[in-house]
Amino acid sequence: MERITLGQTNKEVQGVPASPGITIGKAYLVGSRDVRIKKIRISEALVEKELTRLQVAVDATRKEIETIKQRVAQEVGFSEAEIFNAYLHILQDPLLIQAAMEQIRNSRHNAEYVLQELASNLVKQFMDSSEEYLQERAADINADINDVVARLIRNLTGQPTGLLSDAGNDVIVVANDLTPSQTTTMRRERVIGFTTDIGGKTSHVAIMARSLELPAVVGLKNITTVVQNGDLLIVNGTSGKVIINPDAKMLGQYRLAQQRMEEWNRKLKKLKGVTAVTKDGYRLTVAANIELPEDVRQARKYGSEGIGLFRTEFIYLNRRDLPSEEEQFEAYKIVAHQSLPYATIIRTVDLGGDKFFSRLGTTTEMNPFLGLRGIRLCLAHPDIFKQQLRAILRASHFGKIKIMFPMIAGVEEMRQAKALLKETQKELSRRRISYDRNLEVGLMIELPSAALTADILAREANFFSIGTNDLIQYTMAADRVNEKVAYLYNPLHPAVLRLIRQIVQAAHNERIWVGMCGEMAADPFLTPLLVGLGLDGFSTGPSFVPQVKKSIREVHFTECRELAEKALACTTSEDIEELVKTQVRTEVLNEQIIKTD
Ligand code: PEP
Ligand code: MG
Repeated sequence: MERITLGQTNKEVQGVPASPGITIGKAYLVGSRDVRIKKIRISEALVEKELTRLQVAVDATRKEIETIKQRVAQEVGFSEAEIFNAYLHILQDPLLIQAAMEQIRNSRHNAEYVLQELASNLVKQFMDSSEEYLQERAADINADINDVVARLIRNLTGQPTGLLSDAGNDVIVVANDLTPSQTTTMRRERVIGFTTDIGGKTSHVAIMARSLELPAVVGLKNITTVVQNGDLLIVNGTSGKVIINPDAKMLGQYRLAQQRMEEWNRKLKKLKGVTAVTKDGYRLTVAANIELPEDVRQARKYGSEGIGLFRTEFIYLNRRDLPSEEEQFEAYKIVAHQSLPYATIIRTVDLGGDKFFSRLGTTTEMNPFLGLRGIRLCLAHPDIFKQQLRAILRASHFGKIKIMFPMIAGVEEMRQAKALLKETQKELSRRRISYDRNLEVGLMIELPSAALTADILAREANFFSIGTNDLIQYTMAADRVNEKVAYLYNPLHPAVLRLIRQIVQAAHNERIWVGMCGEMAADPFLTPLLVGLGLDGFSTGPSFVPQVKKSIREVHFTECRELAEKALACTTSEDIEELVKTQVRTEVLNEQIIKTD
């Protein structure tokens, strides 16, 4: 898959296209490990000078952290700013600065070397700790210590830190991987695109890139080693190609392609008000997937019919404490209210997998995607789960909310989740707190076990939403964030299509609504096939809504049905792909092909 053209300019690397569009800018390496610290022995006479040098760096770092803390408190919120108190504590910790001073005196090595050694020992101690609490928090503490020490070293050496908060304006982030909290930070920093060594099309970093409308390529394997800070990059998030230090001719071609894409997007935005109806009158709904409450604005801008998936885990990430009921209530209320007259489907929290939250111990599992994730984690922590349910129920008084449970493996879990919901409803009724008593309860079909028992589950639910990101990963046994098995992660595999058909039939037999909210729903190339498989609606990243509506409006339902039947009779994904191509309108195909490469 990887292709490198050697040479001074126009070096090309191929990865997994994660978020469409073309962006051109300077590279900024995040979390880069290339700050080389030399071990230098200093003479007795220079020890005091070295101690002063360290003290000056400590003071500068403290001032810097206090400034960021204030800025975050004003721009984002007090709870997000709390994290910087932990940084200030680390700066005062005798095990770090005082110990560094002692070591400079005793071993007579330079301050940056001593600090780096102490930091890695400290991190190791937390990792090896026998106390469960410290072990669970090791990843957070680790990140905090590394961040503080990176700042200290930058203040000692003047070398760049590789911290996202230091990225500056209009840069393309280059990283091995980005955590969900780092991608959230990008909203505040002026990042214009990003590339990562690892990841696949449906890893959360890719989903976040699409929600931020930032062109991104992931799964590039070694982009952090082939790119240097300040290199000029072209990132083509549509084709998955990254060009390092392009020459003038190449730059010109891409600037033209960038303009063409922008024009196409402007044209699509004009479709905002249209309904998603096929030429022969079959009506579907196209709603939006959102990650944060402020994404509702974007969803409305693109003409989405409500929110088909509100991923609530982002309220839990980027922080050390649990969000309060009040905070959650406010977030859900805003989204539900602003989405009226349409519905908002709130998915209860799906932590675990690649969305770690150390307070609940999700960082220490061997196979997090097969571990305590989604509804399993919620059922293991009923108090936390009920707190979220209370917040959702209270918000349901202010809009049209539906609840959906993620990662349901079978009817037992669905019943347990519903029992906790009922308990919460009764408690609210006793306290005379208003909520929507007709609130619909659905579930995500993301596991083969749920797909194969969809007929049983349909009797327990008001609706289904097919989460293909996970359904494909678990059906194909191909980790959704692992670029090495990306070739197996194929929405057009006959097994995936058969499962979708089975889920839709089971839902319709019980007369319940069935939609799709995985990334498969956002691919206009697949829309005719999905319409033919009988889905009632789609939910996609906000910017994909117009294209999906357009694709629906260009087909006949009867033709789509025939296409689906033929696809289900195929033996290989290649055959299905060939078949699907024949039904796609040329305009859509052309836009898929505008890649200049
Ligand atoms: C899915 O699995 O398809 C889905 C929509 O959920 P997430 O991507 O958040 O796991
Ligand atoms: Mg999922």
